[in-house]
Amino acid sequence: MLIGLVAVGSELLTPYYQDTDSLFITQRLNDLGLEPSFKIVVGDEPENLKMILQICLDKADLTFVVGGLGPTEDDRTKETLAEVLQRKLIFHPEILARIEERFERRGMKMPESNRRQAYILEGAEILPNKVGTAPGQWIEFDNKKIILLPGPPRELQPMFNEFVVPKLEAWRKGYLYRRIIKITGLTESQVEDKIKDLYPHSRDLRVTVLAYPGQIEIHLLSLAEKESLAKEKLDPLLEALTQRLGDNIFSTTGEELEAIVGQLLRQSGQTLAVAESCTGGLVGHRLTSIPGSSTYFLEGAVVYSNEAKIRTLNVPAELIQQYGAVSSEVAKILAENIRLKSGASLGLSITGIAGPGGGSEIKPVGLVFTGLSWNSGTEVVRNLFLGGREQIKFQSSQKALDMLRRHLLKKIAGDKNENFHCN
Ligand code: ATP
Ligand code: MG
Repeated sequence: MLIGLVAVGSELLTPYYQDTDSLFITQRLNDLGLEPSFKIVVGDEPENLKMILQICLDKADLTFVVGGLGPTEDDRTKETLAEVLQRKLIFHPEILARIEERFERRGMKMPESNRRQAYILEGAEILPNKVGTAPGQWIEFDNKKIILLPGPPRELQPMFNEFVVPKLEAWRKGYLYRRIIKITGLTESQVEDKIKDLYPHSRDLRVTVLAYPGQIEIHLLSLAEKESLAKEKLDPLLEALTQRLGDNIFSTTGEELEAIVGQLLRQSGQTLAVAESCTGGLVGHRLTSIPGSSTYFLEGAVVYSNEAKIRTLNVPAELIQQYGAVSSEVAKILAENIRLKSGASLGLSITGIAGPGGGSEIKPVGLVFTGLSWNSGTEVVRNLFLGGREQIKFQSSQKALDMLRRHLLKKIAGDKNENFHCN
């Protein structure tokens, strides 16, 4: 079965908007063991849309057309399809009543232009829109199916899940099971070298390695006739990869690094304070994005200027003069003093050069020191990150969080051993 996806909207052909709806639809199709064969983005001009719809009707068994169902002049999807299929548009009073009622509930009168949304292609099945005005439409023509869907993701997604997926069940090819292994502290090629002999060579069991700054992800996907079989097929591979990559893996169940660090802090009963320079509060932001972080995150100080480092965290002015603000000495004091000042059990620090200016031969852009202080020691790491300002900031936050994660893992393992010996 050939499946095509069409995203309609001139804004999707500019540098400012991305077609994310097709990613969502692809994911849902994959869940049914189905894959699209092509995907097209087309502007609002009816002539171009007509050309694409004709290609789809000619080639694809199932076509999803997203966007252009709205009330405005440039929303022409269903009119264009009606022309291509030579079908009438039929007025549905019950749809109009529902749209009017939506406006009434907000104390507004329905603008005349919304009337257009009550027209449906002759013979089409209506896919109700519970969160917006434009209904979707399921149209059959010569054994082919075309499905019109609204563009806004918050309207499309519930409609797709509730009304489209059940109708697609008839073409289900199997059950898909996915896992994502998230890694930090290794480069893409280091990961590749460790695991490449484990790669399966099968269409039904796939491994994809994706590299982001500061994070590598291994996406595992398995397809089988039954859900339990898909999982059974994937589990040994997941186990083998987990063995190989050890504690470089921070999650196999979807969490971000800050969530894992939060869990470990909670589990070990430790509290944290952070002193950030070049990351400008990013670590604090990431940690506090996790609900319940107030149990372990005490405070964050953004000490960006030298004066702030001296005034807020008592970094000796001579130390900055002698070694510079971006130095292992300053990272060490920052981590220690934020810990002592806050009363937290752990202090984390970051000082570095995010660029694009400010670098020198001895201290290039991307040089970042990350520090961690605990009651009986301090660790400082010298890092050299590549990339633009944002990427360097993110990698710095990632490294600091990872130092913390590894420290906490060791502590938790140590505590367990101690208990074991005591018993
Ligand atoms: P509306 O009733 O809001 O006009 P519509 O079905 O006509 O809905 P469009 O006008 O094409 O849809 O798009 C409305 C908004 O939906 C866009 O501004 C954009 O934010 C979002 N959108 C449209 N198409 C996509 C897409 N393919 N991926 C992600 N978002 C999209
Ligand atoms: Mg629109």
